[in-house]
Amino acid sequence: MKTNRPLIGVYVHIPFCDGKCPYCDFYSMRADEARLEAYTNALCRTAQAWAPQWHGKTADTVYFGGGTPVLLGADRLRRVLESIRANIALTADAEITVEANPAAAQEPLFRALHKAGFNRLSMGLQSADPDELRFLGRRHTVQQASEAVQTARDAGFTNISLDLMLGLQGQTPERLKRSVAFCAQQEVPHVSAYLLKVEPGTPFDRRGVEAQLPDEDAQAELYHTVCTELAQYGYHQYEISNFAKAGFESRHNLHYWRDEEYAALGASAHGFLDGKRFYYPRDIEAFLQGQPPVADGTGGDPEEYILLALRLTEGVRRSVYRQRFGQPLPKALERKAALLARGGLLTDDGECIALTRDGFLVSNAVIGTLLDCMD
Ligand code: SF4
Repeated sequence: MKTNRPLIGVYVHIPFCDGKCPYCDFYSMRADEARLEAYTNALCRTAQAWAPQWHGKTADTVYFGGGTPVLLGADRLRRVLESIRANIALTADAEITVEANPAAAQEPLFRALHKAGFNRLSMGLQSADPDELRFLGRRHTVQQASEAVQTARDAGFTNISLDLMLGLQGQTPERLKRSVAFCAQQEVPHVSAYLLKVEPGTPFDRRGVEAQLPDEDAQAELYHTVCTELAQYGYHQYEISNFAKAGFESRHNLHYWRDEEYAALGASAHGFLDGKRFYYPRDIEAFLQGQPPVADGTGGDPEEYILLALRLTEGVRRSVYRQRFGQPLPKALERKAALLARGGLLTDDGECIALTRDGFLVSNAVIGTLLDCMD
């Protein structure tokens, strides 16, 4: 069906893991077969319940995140994907991602996922250094990660992303360079590199790990290192923490950063549809019982657009802003942007206002300063 309405994404949260990493505050737990089955059925029922609101919309991305979504198994993931397809139109070239851990041999799983229509894998490598993997409490080895990428490729996946973590205990630029080189050697077309943040209530928080992590200056050096190294291997930066070979940017995540809409399913999933934000509570029992999502206000206002767009290297586009909100950027924001550009934190080519690499390092402060000009 042809439509002039913007394309949306669909996010599905699978809250299961086979253990808990000590830094993680995502909503996830262990589960037995009965629970996996019940959750799959609940997701399918929920997709059907959304059908009236999804009617007339078209999605070009579906993203199964977690947790460790592959714990559901290929057959259950296929059933959920089919129930989504049955209730919302997907473009023929839809990007369909599933997160996976780079654990031991998973050939039948990857083959079945590829056959079911999944065409992008995102793997939580985190590091190619055995000490750093131990520090993070990860349950895979560097060798297993390499095998997992090869297995995925043999199964037909060409669009594979690896996650790296920055700011780990004992991490030096040299160590980080080796992890970047590992990603490049695996010839994956996408790498994410996130700074470790010690979240309240996690084991890392309780153990006071924060005090053992690199200080702000060392973190800045690590950030510059990862950006420079990835660029040398041909990965261009398109977001604060995301790097890709041309054409392999995450289309799903671009929906978030461009402040576009996305449907959501699953305990703890957040969505943005028809101008309204909503979320499912971090409560699997509520989701299994079919409790509806909680309203979370409206979305898509000028402040939100600027907040999100400044995460991207393309930044805030004046033409997009004018088209979306029917007016030019506020004059006070223009003046502040000019000042910040003179200080090297922004670039402004007349159409786009974008943070520089130094700007990304202090993005919260820079974006906050610009948003203060929106009143
Ligand atoms: S595998 Fe991922 S989601 Fe699961 S506990 Fe570890 S970091 Fe969290």
